[in-house]
This record gives sequence, C-alpha cells and structure tokens, in this order.
Amino acid sequence: MTTLTLDSATGRPTVFETDESAVRSYSRAFPAVFTHAKGDLLVGEDGTRYIDFLSGAGTLNYGHNPDPIKDELIDYLRADGLVHGLDLSTSAKADFLEALRTHVLEPRGLGYKVQFTSPSGTNAVEAALKVARLATGRTNVIAFGGGFHGVSTGSLAATSSGYYRDGLEATLPQVTHIPYPDSPLGEFDSLDLLRRLLEDPSSGVDKPAAVLLETVQGEGGVWVAPVPFLQELRELCDRHDILLIVDDIQAGCGRTGAFFSFERAGIVPDLVTLSKSISGYGLPMAIVLIKPEYDIWRPGQHNGTFRGHQLAFVAATAALRHYWADDAFLRQIRTKADLVTDFLERRITQPFGASARGIGLMRALDLTGVPGVTAAAVSRRCFEKGLIIETCGRRDEVLKILPPLTVSQVNLSAGLNTLVDALVELNAERVSEVAA
Ligand code: PLP
Repeated sequence: MTTLTLDSATGRPTVFETDESAVRSYSRAFPAVFTHAKGDLLVGEDGTRYIDFLSGAGTLNYGHNPDPIKDELIDYLRADGLVHGLDLSTSAKADFLEALRTHVLEPRGLGYKVQFTSPSGTNAVEAALKVARLATGRTNVIAFGGGFHGVSTGSLAATSSGYYRDGLEATLPQVTHIPYPDSPLGEFDSLDLLRRLLEDPSSGVDKPAAVLLETVQGEGGVWVAPVPFLQELRELCDRHDILLIVDDIQAGCGRTGAFFSFERAGIVPDLVTLSKSISGYGLPMAIVLIKPEYDIWRPGQHNGTFRGHQLAFVAATAALRHYWADDAFLRQIRTKADLVTDFLERRITQPFGASARGIGLMRALDLTGVPGVTAAAVSRRCFEKGLIIETCGRRDEVLKILPPLTVSQVNLSAGLNTLVDALVELNAERVSEVAA
C-alpha cells in the first residue's frame, strides 16, 4: 500500500512525493521525516522516537552514531585526513587492513587478500562473481532460491526474487538457481540435487565457476542453512574444483553471533563479500575477501572511483578495534539473542500460531500460520507505536527482527512488547470483523 506523506506544516505532499523517484521504498513503509538518530533510536522531525529493529537493513550493527567511532571520525576530519583516495595507499587504509588482519582474519586463521570495490554490496558481489569466472574460465554460477545478492545486472542474475528480475530476465548472465535447504515449501535436499547436476554429464547444467550463497538468507525470509549442509557443500565444491562464495553482506559483522556467518560450520569460503556494517557507521564501503590463489586480477581490472572512502576506513578501523578486540561484544550479542528467542517462543509463537526462526540477532517472525494478519499490517501498526521493523520473505509474510547488536536490553524488550501489542490489536480487530 502506498502511503502519501504530507508535510505536517502545510498539509501538502512532501518534496519526497513530488520530486523523488517512484523507486523509493523504505520511506513508503516508514512515512516520517527523520532528523536524528542515536544508538537504537531514530527521531522524527515532530520529535517522535522510534526504536530501530531495521538497523539500516543490517548496516548499523553498532547502532546509530556510536561515540567510539564518531570521535575517531571527528578527529580525522579535524586533522584534514584524506576523504577521497581512489585506491591510493593511505594511512587510513593501512590502519583498516591491519585492524582487519589483527582482530578478524588472524584469530580465525584466515589468510584472505582484501579487494576494495565500489561501496555498495552489489558491487562486491559483481567483483566476486567476475573473479570466480576469470579464475575458473567458466561462466555458470549456482545460486539459491530465496537468495538476495543485489540488483545490478551481475548480482541480479543471482538474486532469485521475481519482483526484481521481472522484465530483465533476458539481460541477466548465466546463473542456475536451486532450492535452498529450507524455505516456505519445506526442507529440501539441495546437495543431492547439486550432486546430480554436477556429476551427470547430461544434466544440462554447465559446470559452474562458483556456488554463491547467504548462509542465512536475509531478504528471502531469514532461512538458516544447516551446518552439515554447509560442510558438505564445501566438500562438494572442493571435489569439483568449484569456488564457494559466501555473501556475508547482511549476515556478517557479528549479526549471527560470530563475526562471519559461516564460522558456525567451521568452513572457509574461497571468496567472501562484506558491506553494510563493515564500515561500522553506515558509511558506504564494500570488500571482497579472496583466497590468495584466486586473486588473479590485473591492476584496475575491476575498478571504481569510490573504492577508497577514507572516512569509511577510519570508521571501520574504529569499529574493529572497539568491538572485536576480545569476546565481550560477542557474549553480549548471544545474551540478547537468547532473550529474543525466549520472548518469541513464550509471547508470540505459542499464543498466536506464528513461527520464529533465525540465529543471533537476525530473527524472523513468520506470520504464514496466523489467519488474517499480514506482516505488512503488523509493521505499519508497529510504526504507529514507535517501532521500525521491516517485512521480508517471498510474499512479505515475515517480520525481520534486526535490532542494532548494541541495542539496550530495555529497548529490545520494549520493541518486542510493541510487536506483541500490534499483534494483539490486529488479531482482536480481525476477530471483531469476523463476528460483525
Ligand atoms: N547481498 C546481500 C546478502 C544483501 O542483503 C544485500 C542488500 O540487502 C546485498 C547483497 C546488496 O547490497 P547493496 O544494497 O548495498 O547493493
């Protein structure tokens, strides 16, 4: 449903309605004009405070304007550090590379090279797909139903949603989609299918350069790939000399209760894409982590003017040093994740017949089993009550609970209670409509 935003002073349609492209989306679901944000709260121009269970679609894992990062940014700006740097060597970039190695890669035994791409997630996926194709000399890629990898042409080919592909199918490079091991249609033996496609020379599917997946599908409805599936997929890829690419753009940077979403399976992908929360402050930044043997780029072969957003490097370094130098932050995430799991089980899934799933602080409330109450209606009602929570899933049947990882326990509980209140109200309205 389109909601017309009216200027509160004049009562006329806002400049967003009159001047901004029809392609805008979040502003339709959350029709306020926002002026300030701090931590887990957003503030509208009329002073309304909203608890944030959206986190910039996974970009604000450390909340809005976190002080430890803000202070570093202010100091860097005051000192006239470079802001734009193409892919020049800079002190800000060196600090980031060292912090990533020290706090993330080395402790996990990972020896990746780091490629800086244009600063959107989709460009990191483009780069990963390109280098996998160049390294193997193959074109096809295996991706999964329910997967979301971006909307530029190369990544859109791997994104499964008909909504984004509609009308563009013929322009998209070769990708074969297979069902994910879990989805609204139930569990599926994806590995058996993949084995048949790879091991039957007459399967009709060209040997792929890579398998690309999210280990927890975000936009597709928060479906979690089982650990044995991930481990066997790694083995299958090794056996067939196929690269394994994990798109950790949404599920990475601590969201699932570990820095990388694949850590729980003990696997090492050949390529990893990161964006969204990697900069720590919502500043645009995207990288591809590449096993050295696949770093076969020629200089500048994948380039972009904004690969060197120095403020993003400064923020990213501060985030890594502040949150990832020890395990304290991870322990906090896991404690809050347990609180959410327990709350959903006690207060929502049992009383309302909804189902919950997810991992860490990436949780889904699936309303498929709740008659007459849509996720969009719940999201709207929550917004009226001061909670920002988005919908996802194949038919927008899922509410995605994605608070900042730094969310206070008070606001986490308040947000979850708002969700219950919205459900109670909508359910009561439905019952009274049926009775009338
Ligand atoms: N990959 C995943 C898993 C995502 O969730 C997204 C965005 O939601 C993207 C890629 C695309 O990132 P961007 O919107 O920055 O292009």
